[in-house]
This record gives sequence, C-alpha cells and structure tokens, in this order.
Amino acid sequence: MIIGGIQKLTLLDFPGRVAVMIFTKGCNFRCPYCHNPELIREGGNNLTPQQVLDHIERRKFFLDGVVITGGEPTIHQGLVEFCRKIKEMGLEIKLDTNGSNPMTLKTLLQQGLVDYVAMDVKAGWRNYEKVTGTPGIEGNCIRSMALIREAGRESGMEYEFRTTIYPPVNDTLDIASIKNQMLAGENYYTQPMRTGSCLDEELNRKAIETVELNISGTLEHRARKTVELEIAS
Ligand code: SF4
Repeated sequence: MIIGGIQKLTLLDFPGRVAVMIFTKGCNFRCPYCHNPELIREGGNNLTPQQVLDHIERRKFFLDGVVITGGEPTIHQGLVEFCRKIKEMGLEIKLDTNGSNPMTLKTLLQQGLVDYVAMDVKAGWRNYEKVTGTPGIEGNCIRSMALIREAGRESGMEYEFRTTIYPPVNDTLDIASIKNQMLAGENYYTQPMRTGSCLDEELNRKAIETVELNISGTLEHRARKTVELEIAS
C-alpha cells in the first residue's frame, strides 16, 4: 500500500465516530475536478503501512474508527491485510471508494472488514467515461453497488452513495438518472465540486475568473455569471 498522509482526527467523515483518516495514493480514474491531484500520482514522500498502523495503535483508545480514502484505496493489494490489522485493534472502518474494483470490495465485505462504505457514483452509466476518463469501467461500478447493497441487507453494514457535481456532465437529466437508481431509504448525497486545485487546470482558471467577477459584480450578477462559467465546457 502507498499512503500519502493521514489526518489525525476527524469528527465529520465517519458518521457518529471519532476517527483518523488515511489517504492512499494512486487512482485509476482521472476526474477533472479531483481536488487532490497529488494523491492520484504515486511518487513523492509516503508513509509505510506499518508507520500508520503504529500511529493508530498509539491512539486507538481515543478513536472509534478509521476512514480509508484516497486516491482509490482498492487498487492497493495490501488493503485487505491492512484493514484486518485495524479491525484487530477493535476499531471500525469506513472505506471511501470509486467502486471500480468489485473483487477487492467483495473480499472486504465477505470478511466483515468494513463497517461503512461510501461509494462515488460519478454520473449516469452512459456518461461514466466523460467524468472518469476510464473507458468501460461502469460495469465494475454497477457490480460494486450491488455488493454494497447486499452487504447492507445481510449484515446491516452502513453505506452511502454520493456524486460530486461536475456541471459539464452532471446536468439535470444526468442527476435524475442517478437518483432513479437509488432504492427507498438509501442515503444519496450530492456535493459541489471544489475548484482551485483541480486536476484539470482549466477548471482552476475558470474558478479564478469566477472570483474576479464576484469582486466586481452585484450579488444577482455574480450568481448568474458563476453558473455560466461553471457549466461552460
Ligand atoms: S476524484 Fe476521481 S481521480 Fe480523484 S481520487 Fe476520486 S476517483 Fe480518483
């Protein structure tokens, strides 16, 4: 496993739990709005899994759980073993995933190594490649959704689906097609993309233009201009 960093404490990212958050490095998607582009490349200064486990061991009495996020955690072969060691410390695990690796996800779920899964649903299935830059991956993501639901039904595992709104693709129709897939009672959230440090420099440039307009325009004018800039492709 390649681990780019840790956040020593979060009260927000694992609902109802005090947690530490671990950022794995590397991702098989290339979402234009990815706001941690340094985490999708695998070079640079990293922590070893053992360093991270030692840190968690020292602090486990103050924690309820561990959030494993990325990058994309499931591309790492050592993830299953890493999760097992965390569970042996008596902590719960939340996994953030893009859903692209149902095989690893299935192993984690079958072995009861995760307590909460948050899966990104990037777009309606027909538009998936336009956000992820990864052709033909939607079949894996559909399979992952099914596995997550199955674990929810059979073991009560908590889960959520979520979409970061990327206006050039996630228009009203696209979001409606995602919402139509959600089952009654499921947690589904949308969130705006954050510009400024996006993988796609063009999005950052648009964000700067938006800020400049915000300084000079009226409130009404600002709102209209911001939307125009964000949906322009
Ligand atoms: S936003 Fe996309 S590219 Fe960035 S880590 Fe998540 S899945 Fe990978």
